[in-house]
Amino acid sequence: MKKIAILGSTGSIGASTLSICESFPDRYLPVALAAGSNVDAAFEQAKRWRPTLLSIATEAHAAELRARLKSADIPGVEVVWGTAGTVAVATHPEIEFVVSAIVGVAGLEATYAAVQAGKTIGLANKECLVAAGDLIIAAAREKGVALLPIDSEHNAVHQCMRGGAPAEVKQVWLTASGGPFRNTPAADFAGITPAQALKHPTWVMGQRITIDSATMMNKGFEVIEACRLFDLPAAQVRVTVHPQSTVHSLVEFIDGSILAQISVTDMRLPILYALAYPERPKSDLTFDLSLLSHLDFSQPDLARFPCLRLAYEAADAGPSACIALNAADEIAVAAFLSHEIPFLGIPRTIERVLELTPAARPASISEVLAADRMARTVAREVIASHSITEAHVSL
Ligand code: NAD
Ligand code: MG
Repeated sequence: MKKIAILGSTGSIGASTLSICESFPDRYLPVALAAGSNVDAAFEQAKRWRPTLLSIATEAHAAELRARLKSADIPGVEVVWGTAGTVAVATHPEIEFVVSAIVGVAGLEATYAAVQAGKTIGLANKECLVAAGDLIIAAAREKGVALLPIDSEHNAVHQCMRGGAPAEVKQVWLTASGGPFRNTPAADFAGITPAQALKHPTWVMGQRITIDSATMMNKGFEVIEACRLFDLPAAQVRVTVHPQSTVHSLVEFIDGSILAQISVTDMRLPILYALAYPERPKSDLTFDLSLLSHLDFSQPDLARFPCLRLAYEAADAGPSACIALNAADEIAVAAFLSHEIPFLGIPRTIERVLELTPAARPASISEVLAADRMARTVAREVIASHSITEAHVSL
């Protein structure tokens, strides 16, 4: 029985992880959970799973949850809160495996603490690697910790990498669905609404990653994530648009062979792979190859999706640019969702913040978080300066 912690248990990846625990009750037991501010969902999870430790966003949420657990007569669940609570969940001594699935840099300290504590990590939170990839990878190497990617593309790459040695890899191809605006003409981009951008054609996910998929910033983050995980320069991480989301990614080797990973469009499979690695347990997540009629691949359009270009530029520019890329994107996505800026205001904001970000290489997680806060402040100023809110923003 593997005892696991889930950071972000009430989110989309958290729910899929618990679904795997449900399907494999003899293999995986969630013992510590970290939720955000959804007390109802945290209460239901506490009731179902009786975790030893449960962390929630604030002291007030913790008080409410404790009271509800008491009145429902559910003993034995210690409720903690805030960053200290999330770190306690990530480093709980009983835990062997930590699923890192908080969204954004809010999950960074806990993920880093889990690595430091020697836990095996199933990593969904790509923003951690974008903002602090070099520090996390260095700590993982030092502690001998395995970082197993849950992000479907990187999970696919991890699987394909088992087909050759790292020195035999020519390049990696990350597939991108292209999002809801794959075929939208450039002229229509200015009028894209949050409701349109929240409709992803192939995946059901949290709000931030859904908007990031619509701008293709998600793929940009994934390029940086792949550089960190597989120790490759950005030039060796390519993106191909594959609308069926059936091939989850490919690895091209120096002999000319290309290995691809195909499976259902269901995050439970990469989660199961990470939890079980290096084993492959029998599952019912099967893919019917006989139903497959064709697979399309095409080049991404960097003119309509400038976020992808910005991510490649940040990858080449270094750590402080990557931190600013993620921080500015988080602020810009929130501003877009609250109708403060138009869709094209997202890349505009990020580009401006990148221009204003000095090159630096933070030496610790606290320095990363300081650079992140600075970039957020700059992003808010850029948005407030109205340079982004003009109705005529265009490509
Ligand atoms: P989500 O919005 O559905 O869930 C996020 C979780 O984080 C929730 O449990 C929320 O309560 C928690 N959270 C947010 N802020 C917190 C805080 N300050 N402290 C503690 N908990 C906090 O997001 P998601 O779609 O599950 O994505 C989670 C991560 O996985 C993201 O980094 C995303 O990029 C990555 N990812 C998701 C998918 C997917 O299919 N959903 C695929 C690949 C990668
Ligand atoms: Mg992905």
